[in-house]
Amino acid sequence: MTTAKPRADAVEATAEPVAVEEVREEVPECGVPHYLPALTHIRCQRDQQDPDRAPGTPDHQHRHQDGDALYQW
Ligand SMILES: [Zn+2]
Repeated sequence: MTTAKPRADAVEATAEPVAVEEVREEVPECGVPHYLPALTHIRCQRDQQDPDRAPGTPDHQHRHQDGDALYQW
């Protein structure tokens, strides 16, 4: 007597990559150029400063990393 039950573990999970729409909440770069005329191509790579920051809040220290060179102004 054989009790042939259907195998439940035979269900194959189709691992299909779900096309998740990329939700990028990336903060735009600050992008403020260096104050030195010779270095205006150097732009701040930090996140953009909060436009809603309290009045009187000082600017963040702008920063640009170029290989070993680190510019801060
Ligand atoms: Zn900046």
